[in-house]
Amino acid sequence: MPTSKVSFRRFRDPSDLKSTLKRCVDDIDGVVWRKGETVILKPNVCLYRFPCRGGLVTNPMLVKALAELIIEGGAEPVIAESSIVGRDTSESFRMNGYEEVARSLGIKLVDLKGDEYVKLPVPNPYVQEYILAFKMVVDADRLVNMPVVKTHTQTLLSLALKNMKGCTPDIQKRRTHRMGLEYSIVDINKVLKADLIIEDGTLVYDRERDKTLQLNFIVASRDPVAADATVARLLGNDPEMITHIKLAYESKLGELYNIEVLGEEVKPLITLRYNFKGNLSTSFRNHKIDVTIHERNACSGCFSQAKQSIYNVIVDDDVDVSGIDIVMGDVEEAPASNKLLIFGVCAEKLRGAGVYVRGCPPKIEDGENAIRRLIHKKE
Ligand code: SF4
Repeated sequence: MPTSKVSFRRFRDPSDLKSTLKRCVDDIDGVVWRKGETVILKPNVCLYRFPCRGGLVTNPMLVKALAELIIEGGAEPVIAESSIVGRDTSESFRMNGYEEVARSLGIKLVDLKGDEYVKLPVPNPYVQEYILAFKMVVDADRLVNMPVVKTHTQTLLSLALKNMKGCTPDIQKRRTHRMGLEYSIVDINKVLKADLIIEDGTLVYDRERDKTLQLNFIVASRDPVAADATVARLLGNDPEMITHIKLAYESKLGELYNIEVLGEEVKPLITLRYNFKGNLSTSFRNHKIDVTIHERNACSGCFSQAKQSIYNVIVDDDVDVSGIDIVMGDVEEAPASNKLLIFGVCAEKLRGAGVYVRGCPPKIEDGENAIRRLIHKKE
């Protein structure tokens, strides 16, 4: 017998986005808000000023459409998010059109990084005995998790389960990476549960082929595992192969198999493949670049700052940065390289082997300056 409902529907263009969303919500009896309640909408707005090829941030028009439905239902939507470690959420909001959405609806837009956080004990933890979480999220009447569908260098897919990491402060985000990302994601979801999940498949960035695909789909559910498993199948992936989704199912956080799909038939829209392997050539295919990242348990903050530093140097200086090796996280030994960047305090013990950039994560401008020193170093 099916135990979890998931709605999957595609929209033709922005004009039928809201009506498609409403049908998805109705399919799964997803009107979880009551008159007068505060409903936190938690999109994924973690980046800015990255060579954004689409599909990396939740579509602000989808968030706007849901906020309108909530207002029509007499409740109060609040958009809340915290960017990845080292990034400014307000800037991410501004650059991705969220300020405009909030202004047009007269609703609050909250940078959670300014909020207090509370300590929540994790029942039967894998690795995290407690989770630090933003008080506003914990205290909210209702929480709607609105991830963008995207791939991730460490977890392969980044969907609803992973998006909950954005409800935790930077100190917890660092613990999450250092204590095992996939296990930590599951521990976070043991204590932070959304009432509704709306996954945004408007644009999906295919990292391996360096292409943004306009897929225009929405997946809705009240079960994060069933929602993520359905999206994985739509992307031609077996959800059992995505470690944190499988672990979440084994921890009884949701259903992987017994899913009642409403709306349209679920069959692969594409087949995403993964070829991250630490080489940044897939991230900057339009530029001449051969840079390799050597990492162990490094946070998205270090990844993102390093990539942004490289991108800025390529664009601003018009130089070839090929041949650089970057070490971050808990790597034990420095690779043999005459252009070695030691990135972030976790890798400080290897600082004698190359050019060290201090910070947790390092600042982008410090990364840029270190890259310039490497490029202009005499052989
Ligand atoms: S230095 Fe980088 S990898 Fe280490 S905790 Fe800070 S952000 Fe994470």
